[in-house]
Amino acid sequence: MNHSRSVSDKAKLITALWLLLSAGFLATTLVSYFVSRDSIRESIVASELPLTSDNVYSEIQKDLVRPILISSMMSRDTFLRDWVVGGERDVGQMTRYLKEVMVHYGAMTSFFVSDKTRSYYQAGGALKTVSTEDARDAWYFRVRSMSEPYEINVDPDLANRNKLTIFINYQVFDYDQRLIGATGVGLAVDSVARMISDYQQRYDRNIYLVDATGHIVLSGKADASKKGTTRANIREIAGMRDHADAILKAANGTFEYQDDGHQYFLNARYIPELKWHLLVVKQEDKALNGIQKTLYLNLLLCGAITFTVLLVVHLTINRYQRRLEQMATTDNLTGLANRHALELLLEQGTREASRQKTPMSAILIDIDRFKELNDSRGHLAGDRVLQALAATLKENIRNADIACRWGGEEFLIILTNTDLPASASVANTLRARIEQQKHAIDGSSISVTISAGVVAYRAGESQESFISRADALLYQAKHEGRNRVCSDTIEQDVIAT
Ligand code: GH3
Ligand code: MG
Ligand code: MG
Repeated sequence: MNHSRSVSDKAKLITALWLLLSAGFLATTLVSYFVSRDSIRESIVASELPLTSDNVYSEIQKDLVRPILISSMMSRDTFLRDWVVGGERDVGQMTRYLKEVMVHYGAMTSFFVSDKTRSYYQAGGALKTVSTEDARDAWYFRVRSMSEPYEINVDPDLANRNKLTIFINYQVFDYDQRLIGATGVGLAVDSVARMISDYQQRYDRNIYLVDATGHIVLSGKADASKKGTTRANIREIAGMRDHADAILKAANGTFEYQDDGHQYFLNARYIPELKWHLLVVKQEDKALNGIQKTLYLNLLLCGAITFTVLLVVHLTINRYQRRLEQMATTDNLTGLANRHALELLLEQGTREASRQKTPMSAILIDIDRFKELNDSRGHLAGDRVLQALAATLKENIRNADIACRWGGEEFLIILTNTDLPASASVANTLRARIEQQKHAIDGSSISVTISAGVVAYRAGESQESFISRADALLYQAKHEGRNRVCSDTIEQDVIAT
């Protein structure tokens, strides 16, 4: 087994898994994010904004009904008409009447303008005389000559910008259908304003009422009363500017724009009663906050899952690799059988040798002063020598014999059907061949010697005892000066009994 190849195979597998998991997770997470984002957008444009617009519009209409009704009744009031036809004699009577209407209906103001005298009467008395010269009186002359019986007028110069005040101006006729003046009430439309700021705070959407020029008449913006930041015209709002003309033309439409790096959706609707446009605006980012958080959480989870899976795979592969290495029967460096394999083979060999009473021998080999070679020439040189030695061993034994790498620089050869003298001779041949063998290392040539212990198997003997007797003889060879073979002496024991 090639160790470095298996390492790179594992890296490839883990990389492939990582790519696969990441791509899969990323795809599902992003797809679900974009699907929810589209559906959120869809619901903003198709239902949220139009619904808000409908609600605000119907609230405005509801607010208008009452003042129109009051003004209509005033214009038909027989006292009022009798008093005018009778010559506008007792001003106190008229102001009492106007005061009653104002207090009873909770109006901001109530008024009557006489066409004959041009006097402007209020709850507080005759205020002034209207004149064609005064621009602030223009409304009266407009009402006087209009074909409809009444108009709704919103005072453009409200003292308090937040208080939307609507005037209903009704024509008044005598009993012969001749115009004798104009009357009506002015009402603060509080509920609309309340509703607008409610939507602003609760549902995160901005509401603007703008006139035909784009001037912002009323806005739910909490900062409307603060100085500085308030924008008076929708043309001053960067993203809206480009759409302003289209917005002011649309009877009912949806727009998208960007302002200050944010994406907005806008619903515009024309309110014919007021000749105003109702704009409902929602910032997309705020609506997407929730699913964005979910997106990040999902990505984090997927990352954690990917990491865990890869870690588990990595650990599992490592465990199996270790187990496979244990199970492997050949030694990586020399290609000989390893100790584990030989122990399995020996088990079978000792059984057969005992049963069939055939001789079997072992040669245990250890390289002499191998540590010195490692130290002086380096570990790689030592490896090359080990490989060369293994090759020599293999060449000099029969096919039926087994050579194995027993330990670091120890080799064990099992010779089947071979008695002690024969195996001792094999060992000696090996020793001599190896002594003569030259190894070219870094330009110079070196050689090594080996010591060996040779034993013949004794029937019924355990593996451990068989090998340890060889080991003892090897130790003896070392002790006697190395580069030599020590073999067992009691040859007749091999085919004993
Ligand atoms: P002695 O003659 O007593 O056997 O002396 P020695 O130096 O060979 O002593 P010993 O057997 O204790 O030392 C074994 C040395 O073999 C030490 C170790 O670094 C080296 N060795 C073991 N396995 C390998 C290997 O796979 N490659 C290399 N290059 N060296 C190894
Ligand atoms: Mg050794
Ligand atoms: Mg040694």
